[in-house]
Amino acid sequence: MIALVESWIDEVNEAHKNDRRPCSVLQNRFKDYFRPELLQSSYFVIVKVLPMPKMPELREAGLGDFMDNEDQLGGITYKDTYYLVPDAAGDVGIHFHELVHVIQWRTLGTRNFIQRYMEEIQRFGYSEKAPLEQMAYGLQKTFEEGVVPFDVEKKVVATL
Ligand SMILES: [Zn+2]
Repeated sequence: MIALVESWIDEVNEAHKNDRRPCSVLQNRFKDYFRPELLQSSYFVIVKVLPMPKMPELREAGLGDFMDNEDQLGGITYKDTYYLVPDAAGDVGIHFHELVHVIQWRTLGTRNFIQRYMEEIQRFGYSEKAPLEQMAYGLQKTFEEGVVPFDVEKKVVATL
């Protein structure tokens, strides 16, 4: 099933390759938080409807909660690319949140990320309580409070 999800993700990212923009366009806002190389090699795409895997196998595995959530979500990250609805695109906090997921994908590797993310949804539901989400929401909050800039990647790698 993980392989199935991964090939779906690769197709989605490939299909949007010409519409994606590098996160380095946000460099001024994020320079004290993310390395330039990370911003240059991460991308976002603005879409009307977030692409969600609608596989019956995922629904059977109890992930319907996640799959049917596209109306409530502002963004979703697949590997080095995140997708945002137009309303979310102007919200720098949401970009920050999705970049935390990009680092999680990179650090864990694709298969491990998918497996862990699925297990967490099965256990906690699709909510802020799922640890990978909790991490992204927590760091987003710290960023939005705007206290002192910090190395997000270092924090994520240490926490995973
Ligand atoms: Zn998230």
